[in-house]
Amino acid sequence: MLIDNHNRKINYLRLAVTDRCNLRCNYCMPAEGIDFVKNDKLLTISELAQVSEVLVGQGIDKIRITGGEPFVRKDLMVLLRKLTTLEGLNDISVTTNATLIGSHIDELKELGIKNVNVSLDAINRETFERITRRNQFDTVHNNLIRLITEGFNVRINFIVLDGQNEQDIIPILELMKHYNVSVRFLEEMPFNGGSKNFASIKWNYKAILEHIAEHYPNFEKLESHPTSTSINYKIPGHKGTFGIIPSFSRTFCGTCNRLRITATGDVITCLYGKPKANIREMVRGKNSVEEVQNAILKAVGSRAKTGFDAQEEHAKTIFDNSMTSIGG
Ligand code: SAM
Ligand code: SF4
Repeated sequence: MLIDNHNRKINYLRLAVTDRCNLRCNYCMPAEGIDFVKNDKLLTISELAQVSEVLVGQGIDKIRITGGEPFVRKDLMVLLRKLTTLEGLNDISVTTNATLIGSHIDELKELGIKNVNVSLDAINRETFERITRRNQFDTVHNNLIRLITEGFNVRINFIVLDGQNEQDIIPILELMKHYNVSVRFLEEMPFNGGSKNFASIKWNYKAILEHIAEHYPNFEKLESHPTSTSINYKIPGHKGTFGIIPSFSRTFCGTCNRLRITATGDVITCLYGKPKANIREMVRGKNSVEEVQNAILKAVGSRAKTGFDAQEEHAKTIFDNSMTSIGG
């Protein structure tokens, strides 16, 4: 089992399978993209499977596949198929922009992979295209509805962006009220590949909740799992729920159970911190499983207590990172 130096159990891996993406969300990266890493620096599918197996052996029982856009990786389903065979892995989920998932929906269902987070920051076409800088609105919308109606456990991630999409907060709740989905509103974080810098945000979790309360004063707070990053609510008459994730305010660090491995093998123990190790060459080379496990143990054993402490590791450079490299 992985226990960090602050006595937090780590059982949840967020595994980024690529840093590439077919969208250019303006809160994630600049219009021209970032310096995507060369192919030989990316873990291969079999190396990603190897890393997963090692970590499941250390007590990871939940893996979320992320990126970049996971489905730009043509052989992603090979990895997912392999993950479903790992004993002890109870929960496999995917975070996606839902542009390319359509042709994989049947197989995901067959594999029993039902937890899909869809990133969607607008229900208005123009707003969507302005934010993502691409015209994939119809595809995303169709795939989202298909996932919901085919019984997937869908959560929508909606980043609230000052001056860009706040007018869609209430309409997305209205649109989704007949569906059993959770709409989660996230605070924007400063990982946009250096395209803009900020030290505070207007749309923090309190502002988001107050805005929703103006329209739905009778919402009720729900019990959430202790390790949940979202504070969850129910609006009477709505089939699904909504949640708010204070990803910038960082109020959930005390119970954080997450570890991140990037597509290049960086081991990240906090979104806001620096990589603590890189296991790519270890996995690729002649290192034993024990040596890789020891590198993970060492990283987990020197974990910052909070995201604010982790941020100190960066001096000023933190704002050059892009979420497409870290995995979100
Ligand atoms: N491409 C996939 C997607 O968009 O769902 C997966 C990777 S994306 C980097 C993972 C998550 O990070 C998405 O939900 C995205 O909205 C979120 N994200 C990206 N940049 C962010 C930022 N600057 N602040 C907050 N969340 C961000
Ligand atoms: Fe791509 Fe996801 Fe980043 Fe948008 S948030 S640019 S979909 S990686």
